[in-house]
Amino acid sequence: AEEMMLRSEKMSVAGQLAAGVAHEIRNPLTSIKGFLQLLQAGGKGKEEYYSIMLDEIEKMEAITSELLFISKPITETMNKESIEEMMDDVLTLMNSQANLKNIKLEANFTYKGFVHCNRSQIKQVLINLVKNAIEAMDDPGTITLVSNASEKQVELSIIDEGPGIPEEIIHKLGEPFFTTKNSGTGLGIMITKQILERHDGTLEIEQNIDKGTTFRILMPL
Ligand code: ADP
Ligand code: MG
Repeated sequence: AEEMMLRSEKMSVAGQLAAGVAHEIRNPLTSIKGFLQLLQAGGKGKEEYYSIMLDEIEKMEAITSELLFISKPITETMNKESIEEMMDDVLTLMNSQANLKNIKLEANFTYKGFVHCNRSQIKQVLINLVKNAIEAMDDPGTITLVSNASEKQVELSIIDEGPGIPEEIIHKLGEPFFTTKNSGTGLGIMITKQILERHDGTLEIEQNIDKGTTFRILMPL
């Protein structure tokens, strides 16, 4: 299996982010403005306009709430947290979304100890990766959450049975707003990498030999 380390370059990401935010917010705004002008002029097809405008507003809502999450200070609340508890919380949270697609979430926790972290941020990381795994899988199957540890670090893996990630886009993962989905924000992996960086951790991607992708979180113990 081929492994790749994802690193973020702080300054350029900030710059890309600012440009990206402006772009991603301006497009829906322009479209909403256009439809409002049509409505003001007494245009037909009102029902359709309203639903397009609502979609655009929801897009902006999703982007802004994800962005607010990054700007939260993190180091203020670093505690000794139970890996098992955090992973279980995430399994519970994501279960209904998985069920809708006939996907089973499985736990395989070898390490049940503690890690020094910000609980809600690490849960957010796990949620982002499980959500991506669910979204990647078109057929029923299993997503497995694994915890392992060596003397120095804890290893949390999210293993899916999706189609895998095409070689030519792997280097783009984590670029702000890079998405292959119609309703994606392209912020999940970027935020994940930022949170892990603040924990002196890293994110690795591995293409599974048989099928799917493994995202592996490494954090120091
Ligand atoms: P979003 O989910 O909004 O598209 P992300 O940053 O979470 O943004 O993911 C970026 C892209 O990475 C996705 O659009 C998808 O193409 C790819 N990706 C992420 N996780 C997986 C996965 N488990 N399997 C296949 N592709 C994935
Ligand atoms: Mg995502």
